[in-house]
Amino acid sequence: GKWVYTFGNGTAEGAAGMKNLLGGKGANLAEMAGLGLPVPPGFTISTEVCTYYYQNNRTYPKSLKPQVEAALEHVARIVGKQFGDKTDPLLVSVRSGARASMPGMMDTVLNLGLNDETVEALAKQSGDRRFAFDSYRRFITMYSNVVLDVGYHNFEELLDEHKDEHGYKLDTDLTADDWEKLIVRYKERVIRETGKPFPQDPHEQLWGAIGAVFGSWMNQRAITYRRLNGVPESWGTAVNVQAMVFGNLGETSATGVAFSRNPSTGERKLYGEFLINAQGEDVVAGIRTPQEITEEARIASGSDKPSLEKAMPEPFKELVKYYTKLEKHYRDMQDMEFTVERGRLWMLQTRNGKRTAKAALKIAVDLANEGVISRNEAVLRIEPASLDQLLHPTIDPKAERKLIATGLPASPGAAAGEIVFNSDEAELLKSQNRKVILVRVETSPEDIHGMHAAEGILTTRGGMTSHAAVVARGMGKPCVAGAGSIRVDYAAGTMTASGQVFKKGDVITIDGGTGHVLAGRVPMQEPALSDDFATLMTWADKVRKLKVRTNADTPNDAKVAVKFGAEGIGLCRTEHMFFEGDRIRAVREMILADDEQSRRNALAKLLPMQRGDFAQIFEVMKGKPVTIRLLDPPLHEFLPHTEQEIAEVAQAMGADARKLADRAKELAEFNPMLGFRGCRLAVVYPEIAEMQARAIFEAAVDAAKKTGEPVVPEVMVPLIATKAELDLVKARIDAMAQAVMKETGTKFKYQVGTMIELPRAALRAGEIAESAEFFSFGTNDLTQTTFGISRDDAASFLGTYTAKNIVPVDPFVSIDTEGVGELMKIATERGRAVREKLKAGICGEHGGDPASVMFCAKLGLDYVSCSPFRVPIARLAAAQAAL
Ligand code: PEP
Ligand code: MG
Repeated sequence: GKWVYTFGNGTAEGAAGMKNLLGGKGANLAEMAGLGLPVPPGFTISTEVCTYYYQNNRTYPKSLKPQVEAALEHVARIVGKQFGDKTDPLLVSVRSGARASMPGMMDTVLNLGLNDETVEALAKQSGDRRFAFDSYRRFITMYSNVVLDVGYHNFEELLDEHKDEHGYKLDTDLTADDWEKLIVRYKERVIRETGKPFPQDPHEQLWGAIGAVFGSWMNQRAITYRRLNGVPESWGTAVNVQAMVFGNLGETSATGVAFSRNPSTGERKLYGEFLINAQGEDVVAGIRTPQEITEEARIASGSDKPSLEKAMPEPFKELVKYYTKLEKHYRDMQDMEFTVERGRLWMLQTRNGKRTAKAALKIAVDLANEGVISRNEAVLRIEPASLDQLLHPTIDPKAERKLIATGLPASPGAAAGEIVFNSDEAELLKSQNRKVILVRVETSPEDIHGMHAAEGILTTRGGMTSHAAVVARGMGKPCVAGAGSIRVDYAAGTMTASGQVFKKGDVITIDGGTGHVLAGRVPMQEPALSDDFATLMTWADKVRKLKVRTNADTPNDAKVAVKFGAEGIGLCRTEHMFFEGDRIRAVREMILADDEQSRRNALAKLLPMQRGDFAQIFEVMKGKPVTIRLLDPPLHEFLPHTEQEIAEVAQAMGADARKLADRAKELAEFNPMLGFRGCRLAVVYPEIAEMQARAIFEAAVDAAKKTGEPVVPEVMVPLIATKAELDLVKARIDAMAQAVMKETGTKFKYQVGTMIELPRAALRAGEIAESAEFFSFGTNDLTQTTFGISRDDAASFLGTYTAKNIVPVDPFVSIDTEGVGELMKIATERGRAVREKLKAGICGEHGGDPASVMFCAKLGLDYVSCSPFRVPIARLAAAQAAL
């Protein structure tokens, strides 16, 4: 087999389309080399080797070695240097590169090929002895840490000792001689820790590094990252070996990252950061505060350090040329890494850049308007779930703010919470339902779980491309990075800002849109949506076939949903209105009633309230379809439970506390979710269904009069298992419709349909469709009853199920297409076989989950219905399903 692919000197064996085989980085390096961009020559060991490695007890295929040797020879020929050469040695970097980018998750070794002899050659070659020995000590520490498992702290300890002995403060105070002496100690430490000398043979070094990169695919960080981001373990990583270029060869050298458009806002402007006299990792590590790429950005930032444009005009011009070319070629915003070695620009990486949801929208819409991509492609470019980010709250502009520090606006949105200083604690507090802001000097991949748990992230060091910034943007979490005026004292558990000391547990607010850090909890406001959002949504709406409705219980919910583009209400849960104001009192009277007459009396009190609510909802919806569901939950949910509550309620109602307690006890159930609820209430107490039907029809008549638009209410019967149940309830509803028409002297249309949320109903859908004019899949209950897993008690074990891969995702979040989905398919087919035009939709929580929306589209449902804030997500997912 072919395991190794070379690139460089204007040609490449690989290409961008070979990501599965070469990983993202390797494929794009090959593509850039093929395009004739200045890429240091190198080669990629394919992901198939990683797969082989793990399938064969961590060994390599036999033919790998000769192929690597040949590829190394190829690189050596292009750069005119030899591995281990005593006058002009070839040095390489060894990096991981999976199909999907996993920032900072796996290991990298730079300056490989240095040893006691080649370091002297590098010193001579570069004419910079300090540079050579600095590179060597960096190599020893990196290699020891990554390959030999000798932790960084070993070397930091020795470095600190040395500094103390000589009265140095900064690393830059150390001379070539200092590094040389330290290197002796470093190597002694390696012997002490491993029992073996630091490897001097560059080939041995290379195979050690390759093994470490493949090994890092299974390190804890990588495993966690994959789990959180849904990256399959089977993909494996590639290894990229590439000739070194140096950004740390003095003041005419530099290294940086650049985005072809702004990754936070999407603005069409070259954007990025660089450091003079530094190696690549220095920029991303966020240890030094970087400089701006363009002069315009420098002025805007108020920085007094020169931009790349000013400091290195020639490399800058080239960078502009290449980024334009790359963006055109890839037809997307690019995230590039580059190095300037003594005035010469090298491109080290390009990839489609990560971006905020806001930027993603702007970039997609702009690219379509620029004619680079089609409108449909623009629609496909936006991750539906990412729209959630746009719906993040921001700080109320009218709110009073106590500004305590300013950092970089690294990831938009505002968040408030208690300060925590470490990630484990963040996770712990989150598990107690507390909201926290993770405050770190800087974050590292070890902090991923803490960042996940936190509402927002604040760092005191690092730039817009620091770990914290990149990861937070990907997660859609607010982040303020590099707030340098804040002093963090981990040991004391405090941070000092503007002369004030904040302790762990104190509340702060961060604004990731402005970089502001504020004392206390500041009021927030709901987000305003951009023009780009509206534009993309109209493009999406043009192609989608699935309609999107909303689950709304109140006129206000309905208003919000219509603003987000809801085309109707798919589920109005009437019971939620029973808790408003003092209605609960009438509800309780109804429940406590001893006979039908007193129950009807209590219901009579509820009638006008329900009618009023429905009328308002119909008015808001202006003739759009509205599905109203009859009372569904078990009655005990409306009664007080503790003795004290019962006493209070009894007194307030003027009822007998004993009677109330008895009734509550009587209604208590072992399995309320499978108990006296849904249509069973209407079967036993038809007068409840009658009252609700009357309220619905009278409201429809009122609203139609008021708005001039005919209202066609859809009355929905929940939780049926049999046709007979539906028929019984439907007869009452139909009779009530006739009565209201007669009383009001009007004619109106209406529909009676049912929820399909029990397996039996799905199976018997054919006969049920004889009576039902529409189906709405209640996938919350259908999931519960198909799995036999209680909706309310699943949390304690479902996490283990997903962790152990028994179910790929929580089936209450994303439809279990195989089981629950199969029932939906059967029900739709059987229903439509009887009633060809049967309208079918979904109103469980899954209606706002993009994967579930895709599934519903495939099933040929007419609509999905979801909570108001997820309506845009569903619209976009529905459009993508149609493309
Ligand atoms: C459902 O079961 O999916 C549904 C929408 O109804 P509820 O969540 O109110 O039981
Ligand atoms: Mg239900």
